[in-house]
Amino acid sequence: MNVELTRQVRELRETVARLHAELTRYGLVAWTAGNISARVPGQKLMVIKPSGVGYDDLSAETMVVCDLDGVLVEGDLAPSSDTAAHAYVYRAMPEVGGVVHTHSSYATAWAARGEPIPCQLTAQADEFGGEIPVGPFALIGGDDIGKGIVTTLAGHRSPAVLMRNHGVFTIGRDARAAVKAAVMCEDVARTAHLARALGAPAPIAQADIDALYHRYQNVYGQPHPAKETR
Ligand SMILES: [Zn+2]
Repeated sequence: MNVELTRQVRELRETVARLHAELTRYGLVAWTAGNISARVPGQKLMVIKPSGVGYDDLSAETMVVCDLDGVLVEGDLAPSSDTAAHAYVYRAMPEVGGVVHTHSSYATAWAARGEPIPCQLTAQADEFGGEIPVGPFALIGGDDIGKGIVTTLAGHRSPAVLMRNHGVFTIGRDARAAVKAAVMCEDVARTAHLARALGAPAPIAQADIDALYHRYQNVYGQPHPAKETR
C-alpha cells in the first residue's frame, strides 16, 4: 500500500471501529452478532469487523481489510462471517460506501414473519421512502445473502432490507449512513409493532410519502457545504 492508501485505511479502521459502539448504544446487537464495513474509496477493498470478537475488544487495530471477493488483505484476525455478503453488495452497488448487519429485535421479528414493514410513519417515509422490504431466506457462506440484499433493494428506495428469518442489512453512501439506517429501521419496526398491537394503523397516501421522502432527502438538515451524513 502506498502512503496515501495506508492513511486512508488507517482512518477507516478507526471510523468503523468507533461506529460499532453505536450498535451497542442503540441496543441493536447481542454478544458478538452484527457487523459494519466500509468501502475504501476508489479501491477494491473494504474494512470490516473481525469474526467473533466482543464489542468491548474492537479497536482500529483489530479491524481487518479484505478485498471485494472477501479475501483477507490486512489484519491479524479472521474477517466477519458475513464478509461475503458485504463484498457482494460492494461489487454490485458501486454507490454504496458502507454496509451494516444486525439482528435487532423488532426489525428481525418482522423478518421472522416474512412481512415488510408498511410505511405508516412520517419518519419511515423520510428515511426509507416507503415500506422496508423483505429479502429471501438464504444460508450464510456463499453469495446467496448478498444476492438477496441487492435484488430486493433494487426495487425499493429503502436502504434497509429484512432478510427473511435472519435480520437486517442496511446500506449507505458511507458506513455512518448505513449505521443510521440500521438505527432508524429498528426504531420504525418497534413503533410499527406497537401500532399494530393497538389496532389497525392508518396508512399514509403515496403522494405524501413521496413528498416527505423528497423533502427529507433533499432539503432537511443544515445548509452547510460539508453537510453531515444523514
Ligand atoms: Zn446475521
